[in-house]
Amino acid sequence: MRIKFWGVRGSTPTPERRNSRYGGNTPCVEVRIDNGTLIILDCGSGLRALGKSLLREFGEHPIHGYVFMTHFHWDHIQGIPFFLPLYRTGNAFFFHSVLRKGLELQGAVEGQMVNPYFPVDMTSMGAVRHFFDLEASSINLSGASISWAPLNHPQECVAYRIEADGAVFVFATDTEPGSPFHDRSLRELAQGADVLVYDAQYTPEQLRGDRKGWGHSSWLEGTRIARECGVKQLVLFHHDPDNDDAFVDGLVEKARQEFPQARGAAEGLELVLPQGDVRQAEFAEGRDRRRDRRYRLERPLRLALRGPGGERVKAEGFARDVSRSGIYFVTPSEVWPDEPVDLEVVLPDEITHRGEVVLRFVAEPLRLERLDWALDYSEPVQGVAAQRVAPEEASAGEKSPEDESDPSEKKPA
Ligand SMILES: [Zn+2]
Ligand SMILES: [Zn+2]
Repeated sequence: MRIKFWGVRGSTPTPERRNSRYGGNTPCVEVRIDNGTLIILDCGSGLRALGKSLLREFGEHPIHGYVFMTHFHWDHIQGIPFFLPLYRTGNAFFFHSVLRKGLELQGAVEGQMVNPYFPVDMTSMGAVRHFFDLEASSINLSGASISWAPLNHPQECVAYRIEADGAVFVFATDTEPGSPFHDRSLRELAQGADVLVYDAQYTPEQLRGDRKGWGHSSWLEGTRIARECGVKQLVLFHHDPDNDDAFVDGLVEKARQEFPQARGAAEGLELVLPQGDVRQAEFAEGRDRRRDRRYRLERPLRLALRGPGGERVKAEGFARDVSRSGIYFVTPSEVWPDEPVDLEVVLPDEITHRGEVVLRFVAEPLRLERLDWALDYSEPVQGVAAQRVAPEEASAGEKSPEDESDPSEKKPA
């Protein structure tokens, strides 16, 4: 079973630099059973990028998917009008819900597209759409068994448990602790899960204070459930729109003190079960698609960072990919999204064919992501995609390798 996060933000999309590492799209999680079965949990704005990825993957072949709705708050349905596979004849999607029945479910899904909210309605969608009420306590679909439990949330919500390929995945978002009935039923559902995705929108202090009754939970409750239920990995989810990356890092850190196998859900994060492998996939939308010449390399890199107080901080890292317009590098040091970084990388003779060339340039970080592993580091590091903002200087060789045609294509002198 493979799980991929396409939207992890709660309440409203937040396309802001300060939270771009965890991501600003609202909830959408893709689950792939080893036999190829596609399951989609919730249809927040992350669904749009999932749709584009599916079209790339399937090409002209039909796409069939099982969609499970936890509830119908806006942040969990707003991606539907932008999910391109729905517009293509030959595709089929099976929507499932516990809370809305039959036509009511169809209305809840499609109602957002009626005039005047959207220029086309769902009749313009070529894909076949079926709507199912979940009544029994579990169903089986090709290769997976799915069960659910009610959650404590305004207008109700449900959690889903997916068992397949010898693994258990539990998705529990939009819930508030404190209702004995709901607390108990969620614990029953989460028993022995390999992965529990859990609502951690608020801090424990907020939950005791003015956010009590808003229908969300905290990392602390997540760690309690994880421990009590023998969960292997806890993934904190539904990040508050006001929490930037650094703040979410702090919540994850606190959670790890209580339950070491905790992490924050981030767009692009991929988990492979039951082995528990983690891949930090490239962001679907943020992926650098520039076609300009690039040098694939893993070279030591020296950085001079500007700290939050304006002070200069020396740091080290590795350049992975350098092009005329940008660079991707990893570093264990903190890089700030809005602060340009001075970089110095030594390109080897294999690339330049005229001895070592030292490249120095200033780059502005565009996208930051936390990588749980990287060559040469045992600790989590930051991956940084940055855009060059100042012309480079080259020294030690004659000039920059970029002044000419791709040096890797040239014969050594
Ligand atoms: Zn929500
Ligand atoms: Zn909600």
